[in-house]
Amino acid sequence: MARLAQTAGLTDVQQEIVSTVRDFVDKEIIPVATELEHRDEYPQQIVDGLKELGLFGLMIPEEYGGLGESLLTYALCVEEIARGWMSVSGIINTHFIVAYMLKQHGTQEQKDYFLPKMAAGEIRGAFSMSEPGLGSDVSAITSKAVKDGDEYVLTGQKMWLTNGGTSSLVAVLVRSDEGHPEGTPPHKSMTTFLVEKEPGFGEVRPGLTIPGKIEKMGYKGVDTTELIMDGLRIPADRVLGGVTGRGFYQMMDGVEVGRVNVAARGCGVAQRAFELAVAYAQQRHTFGKPIAQHQAIQFKLAEMATKVEAAHAMMVNAARKKDSGQRNDLEAGMAKYLASEYCKEVVEDAFRIHGGYGFSKEYEIERLYREAPMLLIGEGTAEIQKMIIGRRLLEEYRFQG
Ligand SMILES: Cc1cc2nc3c(=O)[nH]c(=O)nc-3n(C[C@H](O)[C@H](O)[C@H](O)COP(=O)(O)OP(=O)(O)OC[C@H]3O[C@@H](n4cnc5c(N)ncnc54)[C@H](O)[C@@H]3O)c2cc1C
Repeated sequence: MARLAQTAGLTDVQQEIVSTVRDFVDKEIIPVATELEHRDEYPQQIVDGLKELGLFGLMIPEEYGGLGESLLTYALCVEEIARGWMSVSGIINTHFIVAYMLKQHGTQEQKDYFLPKMAAGEIRGAFSMSEPGLGSDVSAITSKAVKDGDEYVLTGQKMWLTNGGTSSLVAVLVRSDEGHPEGTPPHKSMTTFLVEKEPGFGEVRPGLTIPGKIEKMGYKGVDTTELIMDGLRIPADRVLGGVTGRGFYQMMDGVEVGRVNVAARGCGVAQRAFELAVAYAQQRHTFGKPIAQHQAIQFKLAEMATKVEAAHAMMVNAARKKDSGQRNDLEAGMAKYLASEYCKEVVEDAFRIHGGYGFSKEYEIERLYREAPMLLIGEGTAEIQKMIIGRRLLEEYRFQG
């Protein structure tokens, strides 16, 4: 599908990267995605292929062995990958957020140690804020770090770690009371720890357990887990940036670029749903003509394509704003909100156009229908995006009286 979701002003290198990824998606991902997803099977061969393409180091600076590409290039690649299978974009996303946080906030030693291995895909990242009792309200985190000599001792339970089992490095946000007197606001008494571990399940490091995969309605193939810390000892030099109390800001910075990424996923899934619907509508006949010739169906296709275009434009705008070095929380919040809502609506319309066959597991739209809801939740729900957007608007449009 060439006509929709074009991006003006890309360099030759960007065009080359995005079209290479698109080819890979068409040949290596789309043909196997639905079968692997139904089996909830980790797509090892696809991941190996992405490693070879250098996708794990796309935004890591060249001096650390990455490709040093922009957020826009990254987001366009994610859009292509999600068009093939959203779970695969999830495998890259947490890795990308952790690499970004290291690049922005890590000490020199942390960057030198982690980034080259992350660029090669040898170390794979996950990030962990959510707990069983909280997701939106990050300030309510109860997991704790207590200083003990040159180490910190971490205790608590984390929830919903994408790539919790397959990763070997988890950026974990906990409350750290050390150095922060009673009454310090919650966001100033949190610290991100860089926790290395063995991939897999069970006790993956003394004091650290990954119990197993959470069973999900969609977004299968990629593992989502809990993480239990019980006297987990982490050396002080694995505090991200070397200073405690900055974790909340570091994580919010990571989530901000993550939101562009989720918007890009919404764009990719919606594009695929449109492709499936527009093809099906021209093959299925009712009342003596292809259903695409009924105006009601044509109107649906028109609405879907308009949503695909609008979401893509907002996602590209948010990525470009960040790439220009400016704060993009407003644009990222809007793009994430719009792209995820539109994705759900476009998928729903594609499902309706498939009639009864949309309900059959033999049709790809069945998988997309179960995947789209995750985008309404991940990296902040619609309500949280609206809170961010609203707050920022009131700052920008402050009433002067
Ligand atoms: C498949 C999957 C993968 C995930 N991966 C990760 C991961 O890798 N790392 C990680 O840290 N987390 C991850 N999450 C967690 C995700 O970020 C949270 O689920 C999400 O932030 C919402 O939090 P919650 O589920 O606790 O919902 P809650 O915060 O309990 O919210 C419940 C409802 O209340 C609404 N709400 C909450 N506060 C307000 C308010 N102030 N005003 C109005 N409405 C409000 C919400 O919008 C929502 O509708 C993942 C979740 C899923 C489902």
